[in-house]
Amino acid sequence: MMINHFFPFCFNFRKTVYSSLLKSSDVGFKFTLTYCYWDVCETSRLETASKFSIRSYTLLTGEINVSHEEALDILKVAWHRKGMDVKSPQIGSLLAGAKTAWDLLCEEKTVKHIITSCADLDLILGGGINCKEVTEVGGVPGIGKTQLGIQLAINVQIPKVYGGLGGQAVYIDTEGSFMVERVIQIAEACIQRLKGMSCSNVRKEEEDHRKLHVDDFLSNIFYFRVCNYTEQIAAVNHMDKFVEEHKEVKIIIVDSVTFHFRQEFEDLALRTRLLGGMAQKLMKLAVKYDNAVVLINQVTMKVSGGSFQLAPALGETWSHACTNRLILYWNGNSRSAYIDKSPYLQSASAPFLITPEGICNVGCNKSIKMPQ
Ligand code: ADP
Ligand code: MG
Repeated sequence: MMINHFFPFCFNFRKTVYSSLLKSSDVGFKFTLTYCYWDVCETSRLETASKFSIRSYTLLTGEINVSHEEALDILKVAWHRKGMDVKSPQIGSLLAGAKTAWDLLCEEKTVKHIITSCADLDLILGGGINCKEVTEVGGVPGIGKTQLGIQLAINVQIPKVYGGLGGQAVYIDTEGSFMVERVIQIAEACIQRLKGMSCSNVRKEEEDHRKLHVDDFLSNIFYFRVCNYTEQIAAVNHMDKFVEEHKEVKIIIVDSVTFHFRQEFEDLALRTRLLGGMAQKLMKLAVKYDNAVVLINQVTMKVSGGSFQLAPALGETWSHACTNRLILYWNGNSRSAYIDKSPYLQSASAPFLITPEGICNVGCNKSIKMPQ
């Protein structure tokens, strides 16, 4: 946004002098102007050198009416001046943000998880709910979606000394199903389990135990109650600023994401657009702030090949909004979950229980197994 305030200054200057000078073949001129442009950007803290990439290239091309080659030239000069690598003249490498597959692999290894407290479920999820991704949790009413949401809001706070993230949670409640009494119950159980975990340093263990209080768990959950879709969109739009100011937030849970959109809409095209926009914002947040985003959703029955299948509410138009989709379902009288959609997880299912202590494994092993 700031960039818009800044550009008139920068490019008014350009319109008079810059473009005519650019026509000159004198690299010195280009260099001086580019460097000036660069420095104003930097001092205005609009773009740092490392971010000066595809956007700068497109902006330069469009804003100052130069060809792609000229924009490329200008950036190369600027990069050279800033000591950045300009060896490869290809546009691909020009995009300073470009990454190699190796970078991606290294990044993947550092992705953090939030455990669900059900070891089997964590196993099929690859260690728990992934940060930097949007995970949709679907299921019929009463199956345990809100319970899982609350459990995650607690588990994200597990201190780092116990292998957790020591983070905070945002809970956007559209249905009014977030019950503080239940949060207290699950937090108390989590604290008990953590105290049961062994730690090599006894004194440190005592210190850490003293720090575990239910009150702290409660004050680390930021709760937003939204009563209609307008409030929901406003809350999501506000999240960027909120998370910027609360850097410890490591999970954003929306329970449920489609509730108001199912109730209040007749214009289906508008509904799809609004939901799509909201999903995109949440995806950006997940990546920008290293957050896990959990979108709780209802499911409906879909007939497929003569049999009934569970499908997330609002159909497939919504399906691109999440990276992974976990469906909770009844398997007879027992609860199970399966990976319905993921670009990297195998489709698999795992049984889970809901007890007074929260979500846990069938055969409830009370110890917590943290992701490696
Ligand atoms: P959903 O959000 O999918 O509609 P919930 O997450 O609200 O469903 O799950 C409600 C179910 O969780 C209840 O039907 C009950 O089986 C279980 N549950 C809730 N609280 C407790 C508790 N204190 N002890 C045991 N089970 C509980
Ligand atoms: Mg619910």
